Amino acid sequence: MDFDLSEQQQQIRSLARDFCDKEVAPHARELDKTEAFPDELLPKLFEMGFLGASVPEEFGGMGLDYLSYGLIVEELGRTDASIRSLVSVNSGLVCTCLLNWGTDEQKREWLPRLTSEGLGAFGLTEPNAGSDPASMNSGASRDGDDWILNGSKMWITNGSRGILTVIFAQTDHGSGAKGITAFLVPQDSPGYEGRPIHGKLGLRAGDTAEISMRDVRIPDGNRLGEVGEGLKIALNALDSGRFSLAAGATGISQACLDAAIRYADERTQFGRKISSFQLVQELISDIYLDLQASRALYWKVAWKHDKGERHTVESSVAKAFCSEASVRNADRAVQVHGGYGYSDEYPVGRYLRDARVTTLYEGTSQIHRLLLGRHLTGENAFV
Ligand SMILES: Cc1cc2nc3c(=O)[nH]c(=O)nc-3n(C[C@H](O)[C@H](O)[C@H](O)COP(=O)(O)OP(=O)(O)OC[C@H]3O[C@@H](n4cnc5c(N)ncnc54)[C@H](O)[C@@H]3O)c2cc1C
Repeated sequence: MDFDLSEQQQQIRSLARDFCDKEVAPHARELDKTEAFPDELLPKLFEMGFLGASVPEEFGGMGLDYLSYGLIVEELGRTDASIRSLVSVNSGLVCTCLLNWGTDEQKREWLPRLTSEGLGAFGLTEPNAGSDPASMNSGASRDGDDWILNGSKMWITNGSRGILTVIFAQTDHGSGAKGITAFLVPQDSPGYEGRPIHGKLGLRAGDTAEISMRDVRIPDGNRLGEVGEGLKIALNALDSGRFSLAAGATGISQACLDAAIRYADERTQFGRKISSFQLVQELISDIYLDLQASRALYWKVAWKHDKGERHTVESSVAKAFCSEASVRNADRAVQVHGGYGYSDEYPVGRYLRDARVTTLYEGTSQIHRLLLGRHLTGENAFV
C-alpha cells in the first residue's frame, strides 16, 4: 500500500482544509451553542462539491476516489462534526444506496439533486428497533401501482431538513430481515412529517429527526431494489457510511491533538509551560498514537474500495476503532486543558460531546464486537 497522496489528493485535502478553516470553523461554536442548522453554510458545501465527492461526474458529483472523499470528510470532522455528519449521511449512505441499487432513472432523478440542491436521509432506526433493525415495525403495503407507508423512525440525520429519505419498511411482516424493502420517499410527500430532536449532547448543529409516516403514498417506481432486499441495501450502504464516520472521527482526533499542543504551549504552571511536563506530554503522545492508528485504518478501507474490493470487515474495524479513539482523545484533550477544558471557552468540550455519538450510531461498539467476534470464529457474520 502506498501511503503517499497523489498530487490531486494533496490538492483536494488543502482545498478542504482551507475551506473548513475559513468557512466552517469560525461558526462551529455558535452553531453548537444555539443548536442552529447551518443554513448559510449548506449552499457553500454544495458549491464546493463536498456533498457528492465520490459520486460519478455523470450524476453531478466530483467523481473522486474514495481516499479523496475521506480526506474531505476528515477535514470536516476536524472543524465541525455536525457538518461532517450531514455530509456523511448524504454521500456515504444515501448516494451509495442509489449508486449501488438505484435504476438508471432513479439515479438520474435523485443524484444530481442530492449533490447540488438538498440533503438525503437514511431512515432505518425506529423507536423500538435500533441495533436490531430486522424487528422494525414500519410497514409498506401494496395498493395498485403504489405503496402506502405507515410507521415511525427515530434519530434520522437530515430527516426534517432534507429533500429525500430512504425509508426501510416491512413489506412482509413476520419475515424479519427478509421482509424489509427500501423506498425513496420525498420529504414533501403528504403524510411524511420530520420533527427535529433538540437537546442532544452533541452534533447540536445537525438535523436529527423523528419521522412519522401516515398513509404516505409512493409509486412503485420509488421502490429501491427488489422487494425483500431492504436490509441488504442498508447493510451495504453502511459499509460506506462507516468509512465516512471513521474518517470524521479521525478528524476529531486531529482537532484534539492540535488543541492540546496549542494549549500546552500557552499555559504556564509552576513557572513552566505545561508542555514541558512529561505527564502532559504523555497525554499528547497518546492522542497522537490513537490518531495515527485511526488514519491508517480508514485509509486502508479507501485502498480496498479503490481497488474495487469489498471492505465490510475493514469498515467495521475502522468504525469501531476510530470512534472509540476519538472519545479517548477528546477526553485527553479536555484533561490537558484542566478546568478550562470544561467550559465552552475552548472547543475540546464540544469535541468530547461530538465524539461521544460515534460509538453509538452506525452500529454500537458492542454490535461491531459481536460481528467481528462471530466473523473471527468462523461464522458468516458480515453477510
Ligand atoms: C445523533 C444520532 C444520529 C443518528 N442518525 C441515524 C440515521 O441517520 N439513520 C438511522 O437509521 N439511525 C440513526 N441513528 C440511530 C443509531 O444508529 C442507533 O441509535 C443505534 O443503532 C443504536 O440503537 P438504539 O439507540 O436503539 O440502542 P439499542 O439498540 O437499544 O442499544 C442499547 C444498548 O444495548 C446494547 N446492545 C443492543 N443489542 C445488543 C446485543 N445483541 N449484545 C450486546 N449489547 C447489545 C447496545 O450496544 C447499547 O449499548 C442516529 C442516532 C443518533 C444518536
